[in-house]
Amino acid sequence: MASASLETEPGASPDVRRPMIAHWIDGRSVRGEGEPCAVFDPSLGLAIRELRLATHAEVDRAVASAAQAFPDWGRLPPARRARVMFRFKALLEANGSRLAALVSQEHGKTLADAEGEFARGLELVEFACGAPQLLKGELSASAGRGIDCFDLRQPLGVVAGVTPFNFPAMVPLWMFPIALAAGNTFVLKPSERDPSASILLAELLAEAGAPPGVFNVVQGDKTAVDALVDHPGIAALSFVGSTPVARALHARAAAAGKRVQALGGAKNHLLVMPDADLDAATEALVGAAYGSAGERCMAISVALVVGEHAADSLVERLVRRLAKLDVGPGDREGVEMGPLVSAAHRDRVARYIEVGVHEGAELVMDGRTHPAARSTGFFLGPCLFDRVRPHMRIYREEIFGPVLCMVRTGSYREAVALINAHELANGACILTASGAAARRFIDEVQTGMVGVNVPIPVPVAWHSFGGWRGSLYGDHHVYGAEAFRFYTRLKTVTQRWPDGDAQSADLAMPGTS
Ligand code: NAD
Repeated sequence: MASASLETEPGASPDVRRPMIAHWIDGRSVRGEGEPCAVFDPSLGLAIRELRLATHAEVDRAVASAAQAFPDWGRLPPARRARVMFRFKALLEANGSRLAALVSQEHGKTLADAEGEFARGLELVEFACGAPQLLKGELSASAGRGIDCFDLRQPLGVVAGVTPFNFPAMVPLWMFPIALAAGNTFVLKPSERDPSASILLAELLAEAGAPPGVFNVVQGDKTAVDALVDHPGIAALSFVGSTPVARALHARAAAAGKRVQALGGAKNHLLVMPDADLDAATEALVGAAYGSAGERCMAISVALVVGEHAADSLVERLVRRLAKLDVGPGDREGVEMGPLVSAAHRDRVARYIEVGVHEGAELVMDGRTHPAARSTGFFLGPCLFDRVRPHMRIYREEIFGPVLCMVRTGSYREAVALINAHELANGACILTASGAAARRFIDEVQTGMVGVNVPIPVPVAWHSFGGWRGSLYGDHHVYGAEAFRFYTRLKTVTQRWPDGDAQSADLAMPGTS
């Protein structure tokens, strides 16, 4: 952690002195004055740091600072803003292992996974460096006689980003590099579970040359989010988190006239066709369902298997592979799956296991009895349910833990109908040896992202990320060219310069003659 932002809480008794994570306002670290909130190391189950939940006044200060910085930053030539992003990218590369270690420590994911998160976030900064090209408008020379018509993309003003716990570096990086490169200024409200990465990002961006106020961070919870959403100085909101919050914030911010993109939860299905290689399917499912303890919005939480024989063979293979899964602290060499983010979330996932058993699904592997679950950390072992039926809560609701539900289906058609009927529609994948089946799936499946023999189809930085139905409220996906559209307003200019001929009034609708 960058030393400037971590102060020891004065006044606390020596046994509870914890480093404090500050806000970042107006280009510097600012001590919070709100209620304290502990930040845990989930592998140990211990509070290791603390933040202060931002008050309305602190949110106001951050927005005021961003508003003050906007006119100068927004008027800079895009190439100048891109140069800040180039320097930010170099600084991120130099500090990648620090960032990954912080993410792994506060989130619980393995170091290798945190490094992967960092690498995907870095791609976004690389993409944002192309802002001058991406902000270019279109021109129609001689749209009419002596008239040219062209488009401008102008920044919105102060933009807010609210992010979830599961990607504390990558999801903020989905948002602010492009928002800033497009000329906006930004206030980030990261998750209160793993906030340290946000401050390191702020420090590096300042070092890269972002002027004070261009990027601000307020640590906080619902109070800070509500203050941002209702703030008249915020022009747009990018939100990533659970569906109920996404739905509510979208409605509230849109009613206040703000531009909003609110990405919600997921229940991603992987369809295993009878011709799929079952060894490859086993590895794909283990990686995609249990990586990051299932706390990924692109995790596979449902395996749809066509045919009883394939389903029996797949369950057998999964059980063999999962029995060997190395579960432990994220920073231990060889560990494949870390803990859940908090005790409350671990208990919530464990309750879903009870619900599934009660509903009549077959619990083939029970992570609650895993040896790691007896430690002080927030661990659960891998859980596997077979013979899950679509009416069950464990099928309908997002569990967001290391729980895979297998649904046996009789046909491709039945499987795709299930995917298309689900409330959540982030991603869906097919494993098959048939090009024809894959093409049909791409055409027919109704989700925002699709994988063909790829279990986690997270788009690269220059495409865009987003789901359909209850997985995204708003019109724009995040990052890629879509993000430049979201973070800018279109202005279209029609111009004529007098060439000496006298103009007489014409009351007819102007045309292209
Ligand atoms: P969450 O919805 O609890 O919190 C997300 C953010 O909103 C946090 O910053 C939190 O402080 C704030 N928040 C929480 N409750 C709020 C409320 N009532 N009002 C206003 N703000 C509130 O989500 P989480 O537990 O941090 O993250 C996990 C969720 O995020 C999962 O549902 C996951 O699928 C989803 N997610 C989605 C995507 C995607 O791209 N669609 C990506 C990552 C995570």
